[in-house]
Amino acid sequence: MKLQDKIVLKDFQIENLIFNKNYADAADYLFNSQVNSWELMKKNYDALKNIQTKSFRFEGFKLKVQFNPERIKSTSAEVDEKSVKSRECFLCIENLLEAQKGILLGDNFMLFCNPYPIFPQHFTISSLNHQPQMILESFSELLELAKLLSPRYTLVYNGPACGASAPDHLHFQAGTKNFMPIEDDIHQLKNDVGKVVQQDEFITTTFIDDELRKLIFIESAEQKELEKSFRTIYTTYKKIFEEVVEPMMNIICSYNNDFGWSVIIFLRSKHRPECFYKTDPDRILISPAAIDLGGVVVTPREEDFIRTDKDLLLKIFCEVSVIKKTFSLLAEKVKTELR
Ligand SMILES: [Zn+2]
Repeated sequence: MKLQDKIVLKDFQIENLIFNKNYADAADYLFNSQVNSWELMKKNYDALKNIQTKSFRFEGFKLKVQFNPERIKSTSAEVDEKSVKSRECFLCIENLLEAQKGILLGDNFMLFCNPYPIFPQHFTISSLNHQPQMILESFSELLELAKLLSPRYTLVYNGPACGASAPDHLHFQAGTKNFMPIEDDIHQLKNDVGKVVQQDEFITTTFIDDELRKLIFIESAEQKELEKSFRTIYTTYKKIFEEVVEPMMNIICSYNNDFGWSVIIFLRSKHRPECFYKTDPDRILISPAAIDLGGVVVTPREEDFIRTDKDLLLKIFCEVSVIKKTFSLLAEKVKTELR
C-alpha cells in the first residue's frame, strides 16, 4: 500500500463525491470529518470563531486585522535556505501529522486541512512530490485546481521568497470564498483606479495601484489566453528585476461558472517590513503574504493587533510592494507585449 493511500480519507460518501468530480463538497466533507475527529483542529477552529478582529475602510477597499495567536509559527517562520535545509519538510506526506487525512486532486496534488486556520475553512494543497515552490510551471495547475474547488473555495499562492512557509515544496492554499475583502473590492478598484492594458473578447488585464498595494487583475474564461498573459507578465517582471529565481509575487485565484477565472497578482519588493526585524518594543510581527494583501492581516501577538491602525497598514503594505515607478514601467512594457 502506498503511503498516500493511507492518508486518503475513505468512506462511501466522500468516494461518491469524488467519483462525481464534486471536489468542493468532498473538501467540505473532509473538513467536517477532521474537525469532529481531531482534537487540535477542533480546538483551533473553535477558537477562530471567537477571535478578535477589527477593520479599516480605505478609498475603495477594506482591510481586516485578525488577532490570531495560533499563527505565530507560520508568521515568524525562518525560510532562509539554511533553516529550510535543516528541518524535515512538513508537506512531504511521510511527515504529516498523525491525525491528518486528505483527498487526492488529480495525479499530482493532495488536499488536507490546515490545523492553524485563518479562513473559516482553510486547506493546504501540496504536490505529491517534494519539488520547489515555483509558479511559472505550476500556473496551469493553479487554474485547474481553482476551477475544481470553485463553488466553495478560493486559491492562494505565495512565492518562495515572499510568504511561502515551505519554499522547497510546491503548494497552494484554499480558503472559504469571499472571506478576503479583495474578492469583493476588486471590481470597484478596477473601475476607480484600474489601468487596462489588455482587453478583447477573451481576456481583460488591469493594473491597479490603490496606494497601498500594486496588483494585476486578470479576468478570463479561456485558460490558454490566461496562461499566455501570465507568462508575458512573469517574464517581463522578471527582466525588470533581473531576478535569477522567481520575481516576488503572491496570487489569489478564483473561478466562477459564468465569468471564468479571476486572478489577482500582488507584486512585491521584499518579504518582510523593517519593523518585523526590530527588537521589542519596536518589533511588529506582521509578515504580509497573499491573505494579508487580500485584506485579512494576521497579527499573532495581541500588542501588535492593538497598535495596528491605518497608518501602520499603509506603511507596511507600501514597503513590501513594488514602487510606483517600477509598477508603471511594468504596465507599459506588458501593454506593448500583449498587444
Ligand atoms: Zn516536501
